[in-house]
Amino acid sequence: MDDLNTIRKAKKMNQNMHKARIKRKYDIIVVGGGHAGVEAAWAAGRMGAQVLLVTQNLAGLGQMSCNPAIGGIGKTHLVREIDAMGGVMARAADEAGIHFRVLNSTKGPAVRATRAQADRDLYKQAIKRRLMACERVHLLQQTVDDLIIKHNCVRGVVTGNGLTLRTPVVILTTGTFLGGLIHLGEQRWSAGRAGDVAANALARRLRALPLRVGRLKTGTPPRLDKHSIDFARLQVQPGDQPRPTMQLDGSPDVHPQQVCCHITATNARTHRLVLANKHRSPIFGGAVKGTGPRYCPSIEDKISRFADRDSHRIFVEPEGLTSAEIYPNGISTSLPREVQQRFINSIVGFEQARITQPGYAIEYDYFDPRDLHPSLQTRVIKGLFFAGQINGTTGYEEAAAQGLLAGINAVLHLQKKAPWLARRTNSYMGVMIDDLTTQGAPEPYRLFTSRAEYRLLLREDNADARLRPDAHKLGLIDDQTWQAFRRKMRRVERELDFLNTTVIKPAAMRAAGLDAVLDAPPSSALRLADLLRRPQVRYRDLAALLPDGGSDMHVAAQVEATVKYAGYIDRQLAEVKKMKAQEERTIPTDFDYDAVHGLSAEALTKLKAAAPPTLGAASRLPGLTPAAISVLSVYVHKAEAARASV
Ligand code: FAD
Repeated sequence: MDDLNTIRKAKKMNQNMHKARIKRKYDIIVVGGGHAGVEAAWAAGRMGAQVLLVTQNLAGLGQMSCNPAIGGIGKTHLVREIDAMGGVMARAADEAGIHFRVLNSTKGPAVRATRAQADRDLYKQAIKRRLMACERVHLLQQTVDDLIIKHNCVRGVVTGNGLTLRTPVVILTTGTFLGGLIHLGEQRWSAGRAGDVAANALARRLRALPLRVGRLKTGTPPRLDKHSIDFARLQVQPGDQPRPTMQLDGSPDVHPQQVCCHITATNARTHRLVLANKHRSPIFGGAVKGTGPRYCPSIEDKISRFADRDSHRIFVEPEGLTSAEIYPNGISTSLPREVQQRFINSIVGFEQARITQPGYAIEYDYFDPRDLHPSLQTRVIKGLFFAGQINGTTGYEEAAAQGLLAGINAVLHLQKKAPWLARRTNSYMGVMIDDLTTQGAPEPYRLFTSRAEYRLLLREDNADARLRPDAHKLGLIDDQTWQAFRRKMRRVERELDFLNTTVIKPAAMRAAGLDAVLDAPPSSALRLADLLRRPQVRYRDLAALLPDGGSDMHVAAQVEATVKYAGYIDRQLAEVKKMKAQEERTIPTDFDYDAVHGLSAEALTKLKAAAPPTLGAASRLPGLTPAAISVLSVYVHKAEAARASV
């Protein structure tokens, strides 16, 4: 029904637009309806802009090109941040999630991550529902072939059907579609992804702009017919109980029916088959020129690189509640179809498995993100923003977060206001944008928790505390959400206060059943907070000692992490304070690097090329020494003083 409504609304719009020959001028045109495009359109619409989202195929809005899952280590942090900023991804993942787990649940809260296996169709429906609910976002099914650029300012786009759409701001979120080339064994053909045409005209247009362009590659595994798999031979992987949610304040009540996933593995026979046919892989045969993701290699890559391993795990994941297809996670490949079939049948449980769609690799154009401001506006064309895989990232979450930031900054650009910049100190979004715009993406970029310096401050449980106040100021969240957030924060404070001030005697601990949890029950009275700091104790173990029997799981997660890691958190906060002055000291866009005496020629070239927005960003440019930053800081300070005295 949702699908039908979207298509009806879009058809009507398309007819009206054609009738009016698109007289209307939109504030912002978003090109692409993937994860970046959806968040960009949504954020800009929420902030009051009139947005047109133009995409090749409206049925593909919010489509997951590869794995039907949202979240993962580092990635969930982004999803929660998007949620904190009022975005749509977390809500859609909750409405579509059919299997939820907390990864790294036995490790510290900084690296824990909720992951949702999603029903592909339910996810798309949830995304469409949100977009349809935003009056200011209009949808149009067209392929954008050209950009109208005058005096280095974007003025609009031209579609494949010859429609000219005028606008002062364009956000390009074209994913793997620019010059997309699919490889399957010895075969190759032009495509944006399997079943979709490549955006070749737009790729040609963009290649003519003064932006650095490169080729990257990604891949996907074959899909299998569910009815041909012997699940009895596989290890069952149930979802977690209690069931987590992707939204910061979500409820499992919105989840659809839950199912189990399964696990199997490759074996020596699989490896022999793959190695015997390695030369037929376009990656090893030399047909693929683009760089692939190192951390998400194809099975032929894994077997070659880790020759000492005789087995690799495969997560057997459903594509949806009603889908007859299975996604075997961990065996992406571009070997010829018949080789794929043979190696699949060598795997336990897959002996009779039928391939419904073969795996493949895809190469595509991406644009060097060092040519972007941290607002995601290109440095050379005013009003032109890039977000998502076009910037060299991989992953739905990375794309969605960039889309959100581009949407916000596109509106601020229209309003002639300063951009809203995510910082390394307040978000993984900030870490990602800083990495991209200062280091570029020589290989597909994905987020890991190890990329963040202040992991204990940037947890998935406290994304709202870090970002919701800014979301409120920007107009991204409604009053109800804001009030609920304030109530939650008050509750967190109250519970922290209670834990820090309540002393409990050993007899009361015993009565609360804590002896069963504690290795060595304390012999004297303790503050509840000190008790919780003990490694074996979880907040839920203290339920009987709390005024209202504990709190909801979202408050509990924040309280627990804050108490358990108080010492480390304080240390990281002190570090942040110390370096914040440098980190956030802005370098004016018209700063004259040539006037800085004492910089080496190499440092000067790098600084001029990167034009870092802050001293912090400058300090992370490869090859920039602390001495060079120190000299630069003196000149930035002088420039600021001179400006202030004018
Ligand atoms: P996309 O989701 O690709 O969306 C692009 C949108 O732009 C589409 O709607 C398209 O129709 C539209 N579009 C393109 N050109 C035009 C045009 N000229 N006019 C109008 N509309 C246009 N990520 C992982 O994290 N792990 C993986 O293992 C993984 N494997 C992948 C395997 C494959 C084969 C592919 C294709 C992708 C894979 N990804 C993987 C990447 C993941 O799908 C992307 O990172 C993510 O979808 C990027 O989101 P996006 O919004 O930037 O682009």
